[in-house]
Amino acid sequence: MIIDGKALAAGVETETAQRVKKLERKGIVPGLATVLVGENPASQMYIRLKHSACTRVGIRSENVVLPQNSSEEDLIEKIMELNGRADISGILLQLPLPDGRSPRKAMMSILPEKDVDGFHPVNMGALLLGAEKLVPCTPRGIIYALEKMGHRLEGAEAVIVGHSNVVGKPLAAMLLNRNATVQVCHVFTRDLAEHTRDAEILVVAAGVPGLIKKEMVREGAVVFDVGINRVGDKTVGDVDFEAVKEVASAITPVPGGVGPLTVAMLLDQTVSAAENQAALI
Ligand code: NAD
Repeated sequence: MIIDGKALAAGVETETAQRVKKLERKGIVPGLATVLVGENPASQMYIRLKHSACTRVGIRSENVVLPQNSSEEDLIEKIMELNGRADISGILLQLPLPDGRSPRKAMMSILPEKDVDGFHPVNMGALLLGAEKLVPCTPRGIIYALEKMGHRLEGAEAVIVGHSNVVGKPLAAMLLNRNATVQVCHVFTRDLAEHTRDAEILVVAAGVPGLIKKEMVREGAVVFDVGINRVGDKTVGDVDFEAVKEVASAITPVPGGVGPLTVAMLLDQTVSAAENQAALI
């Protein structure tokens, strides 16, 4: 089975649009602000995708662009301004920042209740403590798909390749919160295949095209390929899709798998943020 991320995302969008309508009846329009520093073309493309998704479900969105050479103080000042605006429910700082600058301080200046990417330490801490609030969108999309597919997570053998703050680490915490058994592999893992062959659920987020080959995958595994790599004029994942689909019971394609789910979760969390803020008024 090919996991159709676009179809799953469309379902989330329908539900999200209904929640937006409900808020509108109370006079509230959810708003998302994206913040981009510089002119990274890939970031600009991701931002366009996010804004058009917002438009589809009725979320008002705006893109704040700061010049490449903006200081950390400039960025934090802008974020503080957005924190203070009642019409902005969610703030997303598009990464990476230029010149390898650390986003840590800027991330921390986003109000946790507006942190729709779930990267603020308060939200990450809540996730680790099993009290999920706003969480990183890609792991949330994967959990959503597994639950929608009716996959039992309790006791499931899950293996994650990649231990980034964006995907691997939060996903490990989310799977543990649902009582899966979790192994997390990374670039220093000695024998990757030895671990991946255990996986009933295999999630690959390494950014290395063709990293996962057929012989590394257990018969019947559910495989989520998070990787987005440009190879020539094609976008490919981290999994050798054509070969692995022969052994997997279900697999996400790239493109059209995890990517659309990630964007759908951003919409969902922006509306959740608006709902929570409305409850405080
Ligand atoms: P990252 O560079 O921060 O982390 C990469 C991880 O992979 C690290 O843990 C590293 O140790 C591990 N790794 C690298 N090479 C490896 C190897 N040979 N064997 C085992 N582990 C290895 O990356 P990230 O931000 O987590 O993103 C990973 C990939 O997922 C990228 O291709 C990125 O573009 C993509 N991504 C996609 C989405 C989406 O919505 N589809 C979202 C986030 C990231």
